[in-house]
Amino acid sequence: MARRIQTALALIYPPRCMGCGALTASDFGLCGACWRETPFIGGTVCDSCGVPLMGTQDGYRIECDDCLKAPPPWKAGRSALLYDGKARALILALKHGDRPELARPAARWMAQAAHELLRPDMVIAPVPLHWSRLLKRRYNQSALLAQHLGQDSGLDCVPDLLVRKRRTPVLDGKTAQERAEILKDAIRIHPRRVQLLNDRDVLLVDDVMTSGATLAACARVCQDARANHIFVLALARVAKDA
Ligand SMILES: [Zn+2]
Ligand SMILES: [Zn+2]
Repeated sequence: MARRIQTALALIYPPRCMGCGALTASDFGLCGACWRETPFIGGTVCDSCGVPLMGTQDGYRIECDDCLKAPPPWKAGRSALLYDGKARALILALKHGDRPELARPAARWMAQAAHELLRPDMVIAPVPLHWSRLLKRRYNQSALLAQHLGQDSGLDCVPDLLVRKRRTPVLDGKTAQERAEILKDAIRIHPRRVQLLNDRDVLLVDDVMTSGATLAACARVCQDARANHIFVLALARVAKDA
């Protein structure tokens, strides 16, 4: 029955490319041209922040210079895409263009990027949005990504695990110290969810990772709530200046 409904839906709404809207053979994907133009991250990456690195993976932990200098407060991190070109357009559409349906295929790409990080009994939680922004945008794009990841992986997704106590300004262009100051005490664990973290691994999910400051603030409150290992996963990450 479900299959018949799906077939019927496919006839009414044939699968279209997320990037350009052209008809495609596969549902929830990209046409060949858009796929080639979308900067998926593959190959060797920094184990901590997921940035692409030169060289080949040799089975040992490998980290970029920034993560070696200032280790982030999590065990490992990955991103599916570089925040550039088509990827940037897709994320802006998900974030501001009122296209929540993009979260589903995006979450599949993220699951692929994070396959080494996922482990049983892990809790998946999105980076929270302040309620005033939620009101304006209608949905938290990171929460949508986290929910689809939870559905696809069978892991618990707790969309309100973290809450933003106050609105914080945009962090772009701020120094590391300014970012830390802005985020200080801005994020906390939902009081009713504190118990849930005890000794469990957590996967923090965000749409875009820039400096990692927001994810770090989220990771620290999870540490304080006695979470076990903390991992981070972003749909895209901003490439570092070479
Ligand atoms: Zn396309
Ligand atoms: Zn790194």
